[in-house]
Amino acid sequence: MEKKAFISKEQAEKIAQEYPTPFHLYDEKGIRENARRVKEAFAWNKGFREYFAVKATPNPFLMQILHEYGCGMDCSSLTELMLSEAAGITGEEVMFSSNETPAGEYEKAAAMNAIINLDDITHIEFLEKTLGRLPEKMSCRFNPGGTFEISNGIMDNPGDAKYGMTREQLFEAFRILKRKGVKEFGIHAFLASNTVTNDYYPVLAAELFRLAVELRDKTGADIRFINLSGGVGVAYLPEQTGNDIHVIGEGVRRVYESILIPAGMGDVAIYTEMGRFMLAPYGCLVTRAIHEKHIYKEYIGVDACAANLMRPAMYGSYHHITVLGKENAPCDHMYDVVGSLCENNDKFAIDRALPKIEPGDLLVIHDTGAHGHSMGYNYNGRLRSAEVLLREDGSTQLIRRAETELDYFATLDCFDIYNKLAKTDLM
Ligand SMILES: *Cc1c(COP(=O)(O)O)cnc(C)c1O
Repeated sequence: MEKKAFISKEQAEKIAQEYPTPFHLYDEKGIRENARRVKEAFAWNKGFREYFAVKATPNPFLMQILHEYGCGMDCSSLTELMLSEAAGITGEEVMFSSNETPAGEYEKAAAMNAIINLDDITHIEFLEKTLGRLPEKMSCRFNPGGTFEISNGIMDNPGDAKYGMTREQLFEAFRILKRKGVKEFGIHAFLASNTVTNDYYPVLAAELFRLAVELRDKTGADIRFINLSGGVGVAYLPEQTGNDIHVIGEGVRRVYESILIPAGMGDVAIYTEMGRFMLAPYGCLVTRAIHEKHIYKEYIGVDACAANLMRPAMYGSYHHITVLGKENAPCDHMYDVVGSLCENNDKFAIDRALPKIEPGDLLVIHDTGAHGHSMGYNYNGRLRSAEVLLREDGSTQLIRRAETELDYFATLDCFDIYNKLAKTDLM
């Protein structure tokens, strides 16, 4: 499918006058339409809730938009819990799916009445010691080991993943929790990442539904929810066909009707924890070409770098690039599009066929709405960019300002740095 930017050159130039490049831009209209589709796709399940994976895009403005469609928040750290609370989202609308969890984070999750999802059987004792009691509702994370396969091949390797409990541990954990007074149970599993197939959730659901029936039969646990977690992917590549959430929802419904309903478990709620699927396509990184360089290869230097979007450097991920205003020009040039880090992996694209780019051109790097800005870092003293929301009416709202040098130096107050910096640099 042809990938189109959700802004024109004119719009982007106008926004860039107010917010200098680079910046992450989010498409409110796209976010809302997608959140509505997700809600509709699972409307057949009475207790359904999507818990947005906050780590993907920890921005309270976007979290609140998703909350309007019934989304809760999936948090994995203290700061994510605090952010969720600040956004007005607490209680059972928060799932705490963490691992290697410090005691203080369990305390905060419990104080917010979030649902705690235990990553390991040893955390039962840890949590009981930390809180002095166990919550009445608890979830456990399952790892079946081995490889996770669907009809067209191996999707991922749970056996190599650090998360979750083995099957035996899960049964044991349910027995222990039940003995210790836990009344309501959930199960959770995240077995494959960025799946671009409508079959992932249904295949995972079938496995978890059978497990849930067995857990209930063998431990007597009252299972209230099954959490399919994240992993529903998006089409980063133009030749990929994206997931259809309605087809996915119907696929999950079919296995629900064939496994859970006959087992008398037709009141179990389905939860999801999608991050990428909720926001990735509805965000982009807008950056300006500032240099061109001709050595052994052709380079276009842009004002964004891996500190603004780490996925290409970290995973070699493909992110589509549109040169604004040249959407219909022939892609007859081959470029490496690079940032300024003193790291040779700071390349947004390698050997990419693009239209001829001149310094000054605006580039849209697609699909950065999830795991984009949030993975930013400060290497080379680079600062994280602003986040801007493109509203449905075409206006813009700053939803996170760009970092300044003072933000970067703020943790050096022990060096009294503010009084040592050149005053002219602080203006
Ligand atoms: C990262 C993560 C998610 C979200 O994953 P996506 O690939 O963005 O859908 C959900 N749940 C947990 C526990 C995670 O760690």
